[in-house]
Amino acid sequence: MESVEVVAILWLSYAAARARGWREQPSHATFVAMPDPSPMTLALAEAEAAGARGDVPVGAVLLGPEGRVLARAGNRVEALSDPTAHAELLVLREAARSLGRPRLVDCDLYVTLEPCPMCAQAISFARIRRLYYGAADPKGGGVDHGPRIFASSSCHHAPEVYGGLGERQAEGLLKAFFRARRTSGQSGLPGAR
Ligand SMILES: [Zn+2]
Repeated sequence: MESVEVVAILWLSYAAARARGWREQPSHATFVAMPDPSPMTLALAEAEAAGARGDVPVGAVLLGPEGRVLARAGNRVEALSDPTAHAELLVLREAARSLGRPRLVDCDLYVTLEPCPMCAQAISFARIRRLYYGAADPKGGGVDHGPRIFASSSCHHAPEVYGGLGERQAEGLLKAFFRARRTSGQSGLPGAR
């Protein structure tokens, strides 16, 4: 095909699209429709609520394949007297229950802090597609620190991992929480949920 024909075809498709009401999108437009507010904003709100009730401020949000929020939760270790009640496990359980299946294929998890080894393993078992986390946790994290669960030979499914989303806000919540706890004489280290 001659290049002049290609140009003509492209122009005709463009004109037809314009005639159907298509408009150029602004440069910041994204191809995937994201709920508003963003999932990480919702997770940060859950983290803040967890801190307000005396739990370490970590929040998580689970999105279904179409981008719908399936579950959102903050840490409830203290509230439930349950050492496994990390935000990530709470949203995995709730989403699995609501979908009626244990494997959350094509679902994405947003969490304000790098998941610990227990949660990283659960994320793998749940077949999560993408993991977005906020602050890194060099002391208690199990994704990019410590045992690096997704890179271990016993891990049979690793999600795509994106760290640093909302990092500054997530870190700010944790620092303020532990500072207040130290001032009031309670002990606790970041990551020690
Ligand atoms: Zn955890």
